[in-house]
Amino acid sequence: MSEKNASSASKFETPEVSNFLRQIIDQDLAQGKHAQRLDAHGKALPSVITRFPPEPNGYLHIGHAKSICLNFGLAKDYASAPGGARCHMRFDDTNPSKEETEYVDSILDAVQWLGFSWESQGVAHQYYASDYFDRLYEYAEILIQAGKAYVDSQSADEIHKNRGNFGQLGINSPYRDRTSAENLELFRAMRAGKYADGAHVLRLKIDMAHPNIVMRDPVIYRIRHAHHHRTGDQWCIYPLYDFTHCISDAIENITHSICTLEFENNRPLYDWVLEALRDAGVFKDPLPKQYEFARLNLTYAITSKRKLLQLVEEKRVDGWDDPRMPTIVGIRRRGYTPESIQLFCERIGVSKAADSWIDMSVLEQALRDDLEPKAPRAFAVLKPLKLIIDNFADDHAEPCSAPRHPQHPEWGERHFHLTKEVWIEADDFMIEPSKGFFRLYPPQNGQAGNRVRLRHGFVIECTGYDTNDAGEVVAVHAQYFPDSKSGTAGSNNYKVKGNLHWVSAKTGIPAEIRVYDRLFTDPHPDSGDKDFLQALNTDSKQVLAAYIEEGLNQVESEARYQFERHGYFVADRIDHTAQKAVFNLIVNLKDNWK
Ligand code: ATP
Ligand code: MG
Repeated sequence: MSEKNASSASKFETPEVSNFLRQIIDQDLAQGKHAQRLDAHGKALPSVITRFPPEPNGYLHIGHAKSICLNFGLAKDYASAPGGARCHMRFDDTNPSKEETEYVDSILDAVQWLGFSWESQGVAHQYYASDYFDRLYEYAEILIQAGKAYVDSQSADEIHKNRGNFGQLGINSPYRDRTSAENLELFRAMRAGKYADGAHVLRLKIDMAHPNIVMRDPVIYRIRHAHHHRTGDQWCIYPLYDFTHCISDAIENITHSICTLEFENNRPLYDWVLEALRDAGVFKDPLPKQYEFARLNLTYAITSKRKLLQLVEEKRVDGWDDPRMPTIVGIRRRGYTPESIQLFCERIGVSKAADSWIDMSVLEQALRDDLEPKAPRAFAVLKPLKLIIDNFADDHAEPCSAPRHPQHPEWGERHFHLTKEVWIEADDFMIEPSKGFFRLYPPQNGQAGNRVRLRHGFVIECTGYDTNDAGEVVAVHAQYFPDSKSGTAGSNNYKVKGNLHWVSAKTGIPAEIRVYDRLFTDPHPDSGDKDFLQALNTDSKQVLAAYIEEGLNQVESEARYQFERHGYFVADRIDHTAQKAVFNLIVNLKDNWK
């Protein structure tokens, strides 16, 4: 092999995880398909340009995260391709009444939070399809002049009926043979606002007998006297998706236009429009190409914007960022890390298998795997029961310490105090122990009460308990063994099976802990004819008056901890303050759902 070949073959590194899209890109790169392109200023264009094109009509959800990780991830992975690679942030905002600036901001936030950027070589590649309204209009006129588009004056119903269906060919519109001059005049009058909504539409002249219904003279412009969030009242005709999307891609020199499988039938139309404009001298080969992948369906979740909106509007959840919502703001508030979402998207990969479902446990496991090495450990007692150590000096506070993280000795130790009264978990005590219960229970049948270790503290033996008038246990009594402290020589003389976490009733911090469960009880809450509201888990949020280790009220919001024996928790982004500690359960230590 010559020197030259060897170096060109290793010009870019093939990413580790392969998928069919990467194979396509690898092939295009090997053929140098997009290598020679220049931008309007004569500068070389990257040979990989993708885009993420949301409609700003709602909050993004976990399904969008897959598309973000895919499109922006490819741009990152192919950074060393000739000319580099980048991903454009594009708002597909051609539908005037539905879009709002609030959504634009939240979408930008979500993409950045997930760890991606649309900036490349100092240029922010943030675009709006509405910025192309002038050009889209100009190109529509070019197609009219080329005899490839016409103004149709049938009603919407007639258009729909005459399009036919799967088994029935469409019928040509009586207006299909208008001359170019007549079409141009009508189209200009449409733009000038001379007609009411619905009076006319602009259609492509393709084939009303085409086996693919999408190709039966699709409508590309309609009259809408509506205000647009960016262009105001400048326009009263708006282009439709099939016309706008491919042209936006071509204008931005997109190489690989990746979308979900529902658009497979639209691909011939995507190509038709761009080829017609190429033939008219507007665009040059190589044109962008559309590729489809299977959308993400996640069990125990819904990813329909309409249904998510319904949950918010009917106050079934506490807003878009409710930690139970599958929205990106929701999973962020829940405590998910951007890295865990990226890991999840890597693990589920990209395929063309429609209707495939990913189990929620896969997402949760990615989160655990990400947090295990990262999250410092701490104590929290979620359902507190008072433990009184009767032989402990009243005013004494015994300093105790524990590793911040068992695998990271370099992180050092955390420090807290053991006092006469501590909080333990209510279910770490039983009056009459069930079989195999090794935690605290009082003296039974002439035998002493059980011994356990207060983790990183002393061994104690249960001596009794107090109840209230209703017979409920309100305090547990114990005595401790002063020579049993963890980390001292004497500790080895005590062998106990139970090892309880605890928080000093004197120095521990009261905290509100929100324990969340899955929002739905059915893995497929909205499949078939099901009413997804019937599957709502009415017990998915518990607010607990808990106690946490000293110092934990001082942590920043969004700090994540593993509360020993419980799971991973995050200081709530919104409500946690130094005055009032508020933590959310992110995920339990183990999958105990089934
Ligand atoms: P709408 O019903 O409003 O069109 P949408 O979910 O298609 O909703 P868009 O804003 O059009 O929302 O989506 C932006 C991008 O995210 C698109 O490229 C779309 O294909 C992709 N996307 C949306 N939902 C999913 C999903 N569940 N899995 C993977 N990608 C998705
Ligand atoms: Mg869409």
